[in-house]
Amino acid sequence: MSVVTRFAPSPTGFLHIGGARTALYNWLYARHMGGKYLVRIEDTDKARSTPEAVQAIFDGLAWLGLLGDEEPVYQSAQLERHADVAKELVAKGRAYYCYCTPEELQTMREEAKAAGKPMRYNGMWRDRDPSEAPKGVDPVVRLKAPLEGETTLADHIQGEVTVQNQQLDDFVLLRGDGTPTYMLSVVVDDHDMGITHVLRGDDHLNNAFRQAALYRAMDWDVPEFGHIPLIHGADGGKLSKRHGALGVDAYRDMGYLPEALNNYLLRLGWGHGDDEIISSAQAIEWFTLDAVGRSPSRFDLAKLENLNGHYIREADDERLANLVIAGLGDVDEVGRSRILKGMDGLKQRAKTMVELTENAAFYAASVPLNFTEKAQNLLTEEALSQLAALTAQLEAMTDWSEESVEQAVRAVAEKADVKLGKLAQPLRAALTGSTVSPGIFEVAAVLERAETLARLKAVCGTAQ
Ligand code: GLU
Repeated sequence: MSVVTRFAPSPTGFLHIGGARTALYNWLYARHMGGKYLVRIEDTDKARSTPEAVQAIFDGLAWLGLLGDEEPVYQSAQLERHADVAKELVAKGRAYYCYCTPEELQTMREEAKAAGKPMRYNGMWRDRDPSEAPKGVDPVVRLKAPLEGETTLADHIQGEVTVQNQQLDDFVLLRGDGTPTYMLSVVVDDHDMGITHVLRGDDHLNNAFRQAALYRAMDWDVPEFGHIPLIHGADGGKLSKRHGALGVDAYRDMGYLPEALNNYLLRLGWGHGDDEIISSAQAIEWFTLDAVGRSPSRFDLAKLENLNGHYIREADDERLANLVIAGLGDVDEVGRSRILKGMDGLKQRAKTMVELTENAAFYAASVPLNFTEKAQNLLTEEALSQLAALTAQLEAMTDWSEESVEQAVRAVAEKADVKLGKLAQPLRAALTGSTVSPGIFEVAAVLERAETLARLKAVCGTAQ
């Protein structure tokens, strides 16, 4: 049997971080098994499923590299098919029309409440003849669920889970207006798409028992299930807005690389020994469902940052430069080439793309630079006179390289009888407007002679 998995998001306006992890696990499992991974948009809630909300899901998936292997399926396009299945079940005597009035349902609800039990439909139309149907009530279709025995699912993550069938009532398949319920749509779509493995959040575990009953009623193979524990916030509560951003797009905007987020989400709930940094290829080789943890995992932004720093250092300079330039906006050719040349030095210290972009901005700036307060404070009169001496020395230099600039700076520092740092820090302030940057000789080499001298003269000139 070839494995077919799916990710089936309901559009909510963004790709939820937990959904992204579900998508990733489905993608990895399919890849690991040499199978197929599909995407189905569960867009039956018209109010929420706007084109923008659907697009936001695709944008998030595309960014993470988790689009399906085939064209996506839209659940809303299959509603007739879902309704046909309900009618087929009625024809087979495995489902029935229920003409309960809202008042009768309310009474059942109240009785259940008084008895301290969850609401269960009492089966009043299960064996009743439709000729007894009252006029003016649009019937719903209910499944004739098994009344006795138990259902056991061998969940790939939760292990064996059993419920008593008494607990599953005759749930609704088709509403009075003829529209299918979520429970029906999911099962029909999963069957029609040939899904062999349903991997999803464990908030759907209860649904799985009802869904299994529906598969059996249709004499369809029940797929394998794997219910993934949810993600919790750092305080142990279910992940929510108060813990921080929930949408994948927000993490992109905060400057995380997709490979870092994937690596982080992979490790959030799945493990391979102590391995923290796991490439996509390695993850495909290692990913199995038995290594998915059974307890909720806690979201930890510091870990994500560390991973991001790693992936930024590993990333191709040109790719990073393009992202940085896009972030900065208006950058001319000279700025572009400096950012690319300086990228190797820049990327060593940034934890996010936002930080990297801020740190790279000085390469694209032109004189006069903006100075941070700390940088401004370094440009004392004494420092400026040493920088003036350095400017003269650099101007006289014929060859321009990291090494030759370093030699010049050392020579001027020695002559002024100050430590190298005493000159290098003001030099950094003059060339970058800041007190932190890549190695200052490297910066001078990337800026090249004319720009380095222009920046130095601009500060020395200001002091005069
Ligand atoms: N559409 C459901 C959700 O977004 C998932 C359904 C499923 O995976 O079976 O929670």
